[in-house]
Amino acid sequence: MEYRPLGRTDLRVSALCLGTMTWGQQNTEQEGHAQLDVARERGLNFLDTAESYSIPPRAETQGSTERIIGTWLKSRGGRDKVVIATKVSGRSTSTYLRPGGAHPELNRANIHHAVEGSLRRLQTDYIDLYQLHWPDRALPLFAESSTVFRDLPPGPENPIEETLAALQDLVAAGKVRHVGLSNETAWGTTRFLAAAAAGHGPRVVSIQNAYHLLNRTFEIGLAEIALREQVGLLAYSPLAQGYLTGKYRNGSLPPGARATLFGRTQRYQKPGVSEAIERYLRLADDIGVPPAQLALAFVLTRKFVTSVIIGATTPAQLAENLGVLDRTIITPEVEAVIDAIHQV
Ligand code: NDP
Repeated sequence: MEYRPLGRTDLRVSALCLGTMTWGQQNTEQEGHAQLDVARERGLNFLDTAESYSIPPRAETQGSTERIIGTWLKSRGGRDKVVIATKVSGRSTSTYLRPGGAHPELNRANIHHAVEGSLRRLQTDYIDLYQLHWPDRALPLFAESSTVFRDLPPGPENPIEETLAALQDLVAAGKVRHVGLSNETAWGTTRFLAAAAAGHGPRVVSIQNAYHLLNRTFEIGLAEIALREQVGLLAYSPLAQGYLTGKYRNGSLPPGARATLFGRTQRYQKPGVSEAIERYLRLADDIGVPPAQLALAFVLTRKFVTSVIIGATTPAQLAENLGVLDRTIITPEVEAVIDAIHQV
């Protein structure tokens, strides 16, 4: 396993991070624990969750993935050997609501409330990386999440400075070690860095955004910031939620798969996108690797990526995805084909 520095911190995280987003719905607690055991055996020291998980949001499963990590930590121990990343929800965190129906916000009161819940569910007294799940402001439509902002509840935007000051309290109290962004734009990331430089709070160490063969928007603007400022990308949905594995080829909907359970993702149905998926699947076939490994290897080898957040619902998927570590897939020839597909 390769370990990479998390921003400018002294933490080193594995190049693969275990995502847990659908545990509690697609996976039981026992299955989650089994995945965590395998991940630890393979040297993954990095876990990602959120107060709002599991997805899709349901009142009865909110916090379930943090709880599953918490019971695993309690039974297996080794808290200091694992880097736990979780997220606080903001006003634009989709349909997530706090108990009582209130919208979450990235203001002091909400952040202080949210961290206590995460610490309790995770059964720990500190969080290694506390991420702002979504910017707390209306955004132009972009990337993976174009529907989220239409429903942004009315209300004032919380200033970045206030958010950072609230996070500073948590760092000072020892409840949070480092702070990261998620679903941010280049503009927002720059503002957070400038506010930290001006003394408003901790400097962000990472940015967790969607990045995969079918969505390379991070390369425009954000990649440069990531490299120059050492705010590395924690890349989510590296398999385009399963579409890059070929499981939805020719309109198929396999039983138990995410799109079958929760609905198809329209952006991967568009003609140009379907063709690109077909071409990536053929490329994987030509070079003799599973399509999932081609997709993961592409993300792993980008210089601005700190860690690739993988997700799996079965032991076989996890084994296949971890297999990306065992071979070299991205050669100059493969890179050239990927470039050609991307440029169409
Ligand atoms: P992927 O794009 O890698 O999709 C993972 C899903 O694809 C699995 O749950 C599984 O679903 C399917 N799959 C995985 N491996 C295989 C395989 N080898 N063969 C066939 N199917 C496979 O990642 P996610 O979208 O799940 O995101 C990963 C993590 O990133 C999340 O757990 C979460 O921690 C984080 N994330 C963060 C977000 C944010 O807003 N910050 C948003 C989204 C994710 P199935 O079996 O149902 O087909």
